[in-house]
Amino acid sequence: MNTQISEQLFQKAQTLIPGGVNSPVRAFKAVGGNPLFIKSAKGAYLFDEDGNKYIELINSWGPMIIGHAHELIEKAVSDAIQNGFSYGAPTRREVEIAELIVSMVPSVEKVRLVNSGTEATMAAIRVARGYTGKDKIIKFEGCYHGHGDSFLIAAGSGAITLGVPDSPGVTKGVANDTLTAPFNDLEAVQTLIEANKGNIACIILEPVVGNMGLVIPKDGFLQGLRQLCDKEGIVLIFDEVMTGFRLSKGGYQERTGIIPDLTTMGKIIGGGMPVGAYGGKKEIMDRVAPAGPIYQAGTLSGNPIATAAGKAMLTYLNEHPEVYTRLEEAGNTLTAGIRSNMQKLGLNYTLNQVGSMFTLFFTEKPVNNFDDAKTSDTQRFGQYFQAMLKRGIYLAPSQYEAMFISTALTDEHINTIVEANYESLKEII
Ligand SMILES: *Cc1c(COP(=O)(O)O)cnc(C)c1O
Repeated sequence: MNTQISEQLFQKAQTLIPGGVNSPVRAFKAVGGNPLFIKSAKGAYLFDEDGNKYIELINSWGPMIIGHAHELIEKAVSDAIQNGFSYGAPTRREVEIAELIVSMVPSVEKVRLVNSGTEATMAAIRVARGYTGKDKIIKFEGCYHGHGDSFLIAAGSGAITLGVPDSPGVTKGVANDTLTAPFNDLEAVQTLIEANKGNIACIILEPVVGNMGLVIPKDGFLQGLRQLCDKEGIVLIFDEVMTGFRLSKGGYQERTGIIPDLTTMGKIIGGGMPVGAYGGKKEIMDRVAPAGPIYQAGTLSGNPIATAAGKAMLTYLNEHPEVYTRLEEAGNTLTAGIRSNMQKLGLNYTLNQVGSMFTLFFTEKPVNNFDDAKTSDTQRFGQYFQAMLKRGIYLAPSQYEAMFISTALTDEHINTIVEANYESLKEII
């Protein structure tokens, strides 16, 4: 595999951009080697600057659920471009996309558009704090909610002790207001609430976690959180930036029937363009400016080109329930193939899957939280990543990520991936 042009670009990029990339997850630091520079994408494929072709399972970290450069999205964007790029005034499409989101996502009665998932989660906790008049938030170890200060907090060993900033630049003051608990541990949440009685504005979580590798909520966990929040007057926020419009057209909340007070969205909602959104109960959303006193704004929010892509995507998903049947089937076939490979090779690694999201953890321990995930052999994952890449399969370059399936992935592609998985596992053990 010749990657000379990517290497040259990366050399130059490192002199101009921190680490050579505009988002850290794109670097190959965890798996070795240099990142590939992508020139184009179509359907299930990525093409790099050196002309290599890959079947890929990143899909822009989720958004490309119907494959790259889908003609519907292309047409919506090229039509929209004829009419100007941004006005800073309301447009018809914002009303139409809001109506779609409200009709698709069970918890959402009113919605505000922003430009990224990070903006959505930052706004959602501000709204929860403004609404409840309380300061502290509870998040879970290993859940990622974008790069807002409040979310960059590592778990302290004692969950009740004050949070420790996970990044220089996050103040102790901010860290003190973020409490953390292990995922799937209802008792730890109860203890945090008891120790901070009357001071907690919200609990925020990924209802199915994609950002420590795929982790599934245990039976009763989400329900338990819902009950605790009701009892204590705490706002429950599902961060469905990854799972929204993916695990069903109404997100994971539609699958489980557990309805949060606020929901954050992103990724798929923009069809590949930068869009995020937060929404929920009218009573809470009506406290947002200019309807209410909680301030949140954006010069390019509801941008005409971005909403054109998003509206085309959501309309398609809303009208094609067979998309989700296919994604389930594709996810099941792919993971069954990997399981069968492991059996043949005498391996017993943990494979977590929900629908079109999955992670193969290089550990034999069941993975139900971040501590479990950290038992994975990341060096072995790096070898596996390189072995797959060599065979033309491009995976997320980290053990702690979920893989995403799109409808562009045919049964033939799945066979190719399963075969590559067998060869790669065999090569590295
Ligand atoms: C990606 C992601 C975010 C952040 O979204 P950006 O658009 O990258 O700012 C927030 N929450 C979850 C669950 C995510 O997966």
